[in-house]
Amino acid sequence: MHLWQRLSNTGFCWLCRTHRLLQSGLCVTCFADLPRLAPRPIIGGQQATRLWLAAFAYQQPVMRWIHDLKFNNFPRLAVHMAPMLAAQAIKVYQHERVYMPDVLVPVPLSNRRWLSRGYNQARLLADELSTLLGIPIQEPLQRRHSVANHLSNAQQRLDNLEQAFAWREPLRGKRIAIIDDVITSGATVEAVAQTLRQVPCVVDAWSLAYTLPPESE
Ligand SMILES: [Zn+2]
Repeated sequence: MHLWQRLSNTGFCWLCRTHRLLQSGLCVTCFADLPRLAPRPIIGGQQATRLWLAAFAYQQPVMRWIHDLKFNNFPRLAVHMAPMLAAQAIKVYQHERVYMPDVLVPVPLSNRRWLSRGYNQARLLADELSTLLGIPIQEPLQRRHSVANHLSNAQQRLDNLEQAFAWREPLRGKRIAIIDDVITSGATVEAVAQTLRQVPCVVDAWSLAYTLPPESE
């Protein structure tokens, strides 16, 4: 059994493993040290999306936390992470004076990766966000078989993404929030948004963490 599976129900902080546990699954110190982003939209190179938002900068210890969600078989970490993204989304939409979305669309995982991992971390986050915010989930797209993102170079990733998503059903006229765990270049969420916007709709992108460009660090 994985160490963290043994720790999972014993009241330890996910990050430092001390006892003092908040609802977030973290101790007071680790919670206070999280690299939060200001409650404003991220200014990115948006093409198909209206705004991006994220709760955290993609730095330690958030990197480690998300890594455990994705690769160390700890899907229940999404329960701890989602409330912080929900709160950030509410603040950003209030700041921008725009309506919250009608629909949450988790970034699809390829079938092959779903089979190896057993879950889609974006869907887990979306499930929690849906419960917290009362916004339904739809999965109108499926991801075609593709090379794992972290194994291929940037150009290969872009080539893959061009044809990565296939329609199941259109979301005409909806306000949509795409949900992913991390936004780096934004290529994935833009590719999803471009596919969604083959019918008229408004698309935003929400992620737990955002990789800050070098000049802003
Ligand atoms: Zn801690």
